[in-house]
Amino acid sequence: MENDLTKLCMEETEENLLKTYSRAPIVLEKGEGCYLYDTEGKKYLDFEAGIAVCSLGYGNPEFTSAIKAQTDQLLHTSNLFYNTTCGEAAAALKEACGMDRVFFTNSGTESVEGAMKAARDYAYKKGSGRTGFVAMEGSFHGRTMGALSVTSHEAYRTPFEPLIPGVKFAKFNDIDSVKALLDETVCAVILEPIQGEGGINVADKSFLQEVRKLCDELGILLIFDEIQCGMGRTGAMFAWQYYGVKPDIMAMAKAIGNGVPVGAFAMTEEVAEGSLSLGDHGTTFGGNPLSCAAVKATLSIFKEKDLPAHVREVGSYLTGQLEPLVKEYDCILCRKGVGFIQGLKLNGPVQGVIDAARDEGLLMISAQSDTLRIVPPLIIEKEQVDEFITKLKRALDAVAIRG
Ligand SMILES: *Cc1c(COP(=O)(O)O)cnc(C)c1O
Repeated sequence: MENDLTKLCMEETEENLLKTYSRAPIVLEKGEGCYLYDTEGKKYLDFEAGIAVCSLGYGNPEFTSAIKAQTDQLLHTSNLFYNTTCGEAAAALKEACGMDRVFFTNSGTESVEGAMKAARDYAYKKGSGRTGFVAMEGSFHGRTMGALSVTSHEAYRTPFEPLIPGVKFAKFNDIDSVKALLDETVCAVILEPIQGEGGINVADKSFLQEVRKLCDELGILLIFDEIQCGMGRTGAMFAWQYYGVKPDIMAMAKAIGNGVPVGAFAMTEEVAEGSLSLGDHGTTFGGNPLSCAAVKATLSIFKEKDLPAHVREVGSYLTGQLEPLVKEYDCILCRKGVGFIQGLKLNGPVQGVIDAARDEGLLMISAQSDTLRIVPPLIIEKEQVDEFITKLKRALDAVAIRG
C-alpha cells in the first residue's frame, strides 16, 4: 500500500494541476547517479533521464556545488545588465556547438521560436519576401504556436489551428519530397537530425547533405533542432558534427542545463549579422545567472569527462546488447538510433512493457505509442547496460505471459 506522502503528492497533483499529463503512479523523490528513488523507497534504474535532460545523472557533486554557489551569490538579473556567468556560458556553448552567436532561452520550444524568428527576420532584412517553412513529417519542435506550426503530429495541432501559415511538411529522408516544396517563398527548412518524439528516426547522411546543398543553391536557411539529439547523445557533441553537415541556425535545450530549465538558439555570424538586431527579440529569464551557471558547469563536466567518447564506447556496447533482443523477441520489429538515443520498435503499443519495467525497477518512456525510447543519463557504464537488458527482458517476458 502507498504511504501517506505518496498518496498526498498524487492527490494534490491531480486536484490542482491541469490534466494534460497521464503520470506513472509513483512519486519520485531523490536521485543518485543514474538511479531514482520514489517516496516508498523503491529504487529505479533511470533510462529516460527526465526526457533526455539529466545527462550527468543526479547529484553530480561538481554540478551541484556550482549551482549552489550561484544560488548563494545571485539568482537572477535581467538582460539589461551584464552578469558574471552569461558570457562565459555562451563562450563554452559556442565552442561546443560550433556556432558563432548564442541567445539563451528557458526551454526547447522557445529555442525553436527564436530560430524561426531569426530565419524570418533574416529574410525580412534582405527584403526577399520569404516567410515559409518546410518541416518534416514525424517532427516534434514544441508546443508554443510557432513551434507547433512546424510540428507534424495532427492531434497536437488541430485544436489550436489556425497556426502560422506557409508551413509545409516533407517526407523525412526523402530528398525528392523536400525538393518539391522548396521555392522562393521558403525562408528555412527545419528538421531534427534524429527525430526523438517521432520514434527515434535517424536521418541518412546523404539526405542531410542534399538538404544542405539545396538550401545553399536556393538561398534557404537550414535549422537543426538538436534539443533532444544534441549534447553528446550521438557520440559527437552535437548531431551536426556526427553527420558533418552544418546548419545555419540550431536550437538546443533539454540537456544543456542538466535539469535547470534553460535552452538556447545559436547561429552563424552570417545569419547573426543579418537578423535579430537591437530590440528584435527578448526574454526576462533567458541567460540569467543561475541557468548560465548550470550551462557552464554542464559543459565543463562534459569536457572534463569527455562524455561524447564515453557515449561512443558504452553506446556501441548498448547496441551490441540490443541487437540479440531483436532476434530473440518476435514482438520487437527493429532497433533504431545511435549511441544513447535509441529505440526499439514493437509490433504494438509499448505502454504495457513500460509499466512492467517500472515494476522491475526500470524507468523508460515511449516515442510514439509503438517505440521504447532509450535515452539514459550519459554517465551510465556497461554494468548499467547489463542491468537494463536484464530488467527489460523480464518486462518483455511478463507482458508476453500476461498476453
Ligand atoms: C523536447 C523537445 C522540444 C521542446 O522542448 P521543451 O523544453 O519541452 O519546450 C523541441 N524539439 C525537440 C526535438 C524536443 O525533443
